[in-house]
Amino acid sequence: MGKRKTAWLVTGILALAPLAYGMGATALIRLTNYKVMKRIPAKRGIALTFDDGPHPVYTLRLLDLLQQYDIKATFFVVGEKVRMYPKIIERMYNEGHQIGIHHDRHTSSWLLTPSQLEKEIRETHRAISNVIGESPTVYRPPWGFMNAFTLYYSKPYQIVFWTHVFQDWKVERCEDGLLDGLRNVPANGSIILLHDDGTNPGADDLAPVHMLDKLEIYLEEAVKKETEFVVVPPYNHIK
Ligand SMILES: [Zn+2]
Repeated sequence: MGKRKTAWLVTGILALAPLAYGMGATALIRLTNYKVMKRIPAKRGIALTFDDGPHPVYTLRLLDLLQQYDIKATFFVVGEKVRMYPKIIERMYNEGHQIGIHHDRHTSSWLLTPSQLEKEIRETHRAISNVIGESPTVYRPPWGFMNAFTLYYSKPYQIVFWTHVFQDWKVERCEDGLLDGLRNVPANGSIILLHDDGTNPGADDLAPVHMLDKLEIYLEEAVKKETEFVVVPPYNHIK
């Protein structure tokens, strides 16, 4: 190969490397299903999962709602917010909910170096275990974005994705389509992803108010129909 061609090849590989690190790794991990749960393995019931909290108003209202219907859920929490609102995490735990890692700040793994990713996971783990005295067992990377080191640093945890997401971070989407979307989720191991905080870029601050209004209507109907709600099993319970 001529020098010119080799130079182009090297340039090409270097240009593609960042894509392989982030998008490529995410696609590959999702494709192989390795360590990634996309549906409850027992293929029974519906798992409710809530990302991006805890929030001092919305999460408390959500906990009241879940308590009213005696439903247990999974919360993928942000480490820095756990340190701000430890009492909410304590309440979640005492009421039987599962608490998992989202990231310490709401960061994309595509933009994190390996050591930054390790820190995001470790600090969130620490924030949670400092409050509840137990290690979290489940992990959901923000936006579902992973990188080439995700599997390595998330070894102790089950990575959890979802079967249904409704753009509930937008007020408009909550008002148009969320309730019907929830009503149509089959109880065959579906994992619903909702958000109890609206402060991420691109989200509406007030979106959780609208999400909670629709969730309340949905839960009242679902409980009447005896829909079964399940919690995501932790890593060591699967296999
Ligand atoms: Zn998130």
